[in-house]
Amino acid sequence: MNTENPFSELFQKQKANQFKIGNTTYKERIAKLKRLQDALENTYKQDIREALFQDFKKPFLETDLTEIYPVIDEIKFAISNLKSWLKPEKVATPVSLLGSSSFIVNEPKGVCLIISPWNYPINLTFAPLVSAIVGGNTAILKPSEMTPNTSKLMAKIVSELFDENEIALVEGEVETSEALLELPFNHIFFTGSPAVGKIVMKAASKNLTSVTLELGGKSPTIIDDSSNLEKTVKKIVYGKFTNAGQTCIAPDYVLLQESLKPEFVALFKQEVNTFYSENPESSDSYSRIVNSKHFERLTKALEDAKIKGSIVESGGDFNVSDCYIEPTLVSNLPEDTTLMQEEIFGPILPLKTYKTIEEAVAYVNANKKPLALYIFSKNKKTIDYIIENTRAGSTCVNHILLQFLNHNLPFGGSNNSGIGKSHGVFGFREFTNQRSVLKQHTISAVDLLIPPYTNWKKKLVN
Ligand code: NAD
Repeated sequence: MNTENPFSELFQKQKANQFKIGNTTYKERIAKLKRLQDALENTYKQDIREALFQDFKKPFLETDLTEIYPVIDEIKFAISNLKSWLKPEKVATPVSLLGSSSFIVNEPKGVCLIISPWNYPINLTFAPLVSAIVGGNTAILKPSEMTPNTSKLMAKIVSELFDENEIALVEGEVETSEALLELPFNHIFFTGSPAVGKIVMKAASKNLTSVTLELGGKSPTIIDDSSNLEKTVKKIVYGKFTNAGQTCIAPDYVLLQESLKPEFVALFKQEVNTFYSENPESSDSYSRIVNSKHFERLTKALEDAKIKGSIVESGGDFNVSDCYIEPTLVSNLPEDTTLMQEEIFGPILPLKTYKTIEEAVAYVNANKKPLALYIFSKNKKTIDYIIENTRAGSTCVNHILLQFLNHNLPFGGSNNSGIGKSHGVFGFREFTNQRSVLKQHTISAVDLLIPPYTNWKKKLVN
């Protein structure tokens, strides 16, 4: 191992401590989770709201709902289930192995690395940490440099709650991630873009480190003519413009039955107006784009669409001084536009129409497997047809984002949108190794089948 690595010492300290942490009881792990819960729910709640507001004007209530509450929920769910998850699972033993018993022991992976993105920094750093703690691991956390106020606050919280030999948070830019990725972690849990996911997986392969990759991509939303369009548009406007569209499972684009377009456009304008007023820039319920780099990326993509003949049906305003982009709806997009080629990750919604549901499904399947696929329809046959003939990390029917909130469901992507799952027991499994243990109690039939292979009948008699 490279001893010049700035994080070698920290890594070695956690490695030396891993069995102590791995052998903690479920009660000790619950105590740690409760400390984290108290910090998020009480001690640091207001500081978290303020840090995120400084980083990208995220509204306080949205911070409570999308950052603090989901981690508290993950903690509570883990506390109620941890004892049963940690219990060795007795499994059947075949007759040929008579005289023995078999168990699956969920042992800690060891020293883990959690790299998180900026868009939900509290949620996407601390929720995986909950799974790491439940699994009995030590962990180094590396949040994003793009939300510096929140990262700084998280560093303070972590250093107050935990000894660095067990859980440490390091702040830094890409070079920090790169240095960490050189180390032989036992597991890496990465949340971010597919492009960086590939870098993480390549680095992990050097040490054959297991990975969970929670990635992104273009999540389609298919709407057919049986859906209640008013309710549908309200939910889409909510799901798309929460966090100013900077949500991995936000609807990336809409596939709409052709005849519904005029009504959809009118309802879109109406709902944006209701949610954020006629001037969303003055609304205290609407976030900003995280930084000028992402602001520029999005305004360039909009410009590219306009040059190529697309129609801005609603919105389109922006203000560079505040990284503000109005909730925007664009139609008539040629396939070669940035908006149709890349994950948007901002408040611009492309609207594409289709004639038949088969055409919509074929369009989805011509692209990479999405993280989420949304369906708005009252027709069971259509819903089943879409689910059976597409592939996606998750699907929510007749609503948006809710699949993320059920801890009994695995959360994650498939291929380009991710590898592995998080939340509840699925997150716990990512941070543990399912170790097989077979205990032999009495003589086994297998003992008779050892060399020399001649005279085995005689051995049986004896
Ligand atoms: P990103 O991939 O640019 O960065 C994520 C993390 O990786 C950050 O901590 C960053 O410092 C680090 N990083 C960046 N470049 C790196 C490099 N070359 N080598 C090593 N580390 C590097 O992602 P982002 O912009 O922070 O977040 C947006 C992306 O994350 C979107 O694609 C979105 O869909 C995805 N996302 C996915 C989920 C999910 O749960 N599946 C959740 C949120 C965001």
